[in-house]
Amino acid sequence: MVGPNKSQIILLEDLRDFVINVMLDMKIWQDYDLQPLRRINLGLLRKNATRKHGVAKWPKGITIHELGVHNIEIIELHPELLGKKWSAYAAYVLHHEFIHALGFVKHDSLFRSIERAWPGREAAKLASKFTEYLCKKSAKWLWVCSGCDTEIPRKKPSNGRYKCKKCLVVLNDIKL
Ligand SMILES: [Zn+2]
Ligand SMILES: [Zn+2]
Repeated sequence: MVGPNKSQIILLEDLRDFVINVMLDMKIWQDYDLQPLRRINLGLLRKNATRKHGVAKWPKGITIHELGVHNIEIIELHPELLGKKWSAYAAYVLHHEFIHALGFVKHDSLFRSIERAWPGREAAKLASKFTEYLCKKSAKWLWVCSGCDTEIPRKKPSNGRYKCKKCLVVLNDIKL
């Protein structure tokens, strides 16, 4: 794994400060000690990840009951989240990983209610936009519909296996 470079480290630390400062003002976190969040290692996911935008990792062999903010190994974010354009979504993703870090392991209804308490309400909607952006960036093929000219960027060719949802025409592959 390649670690973050100097400017990425600065951006990650700024993002951490921002998210913790917002959390300190959130009603839902008032009874929690948020200071340990300042000591968590922050790193980056592989650049070619598209579906995964952030992850909280504990050392192997730790049971679900032991997962906590004191033994977390690292939180990794997608490197593209450090671009200015995605700053609102980056904060939302880091908050999501901080919820995990504070002991909420599963994406259950409690987790989702905490996640929804994040004041940047629009940020959740950016998830699919960010995925789309990553898919376009990493695409090696375009799946093209000859009926409606829809273009779907993908890493692999469709090889005649997919049809346009609107036109039901088999998609053509164009190598980028
Ligand atoms: Zn999660
Ligand atoms: Zn079509």
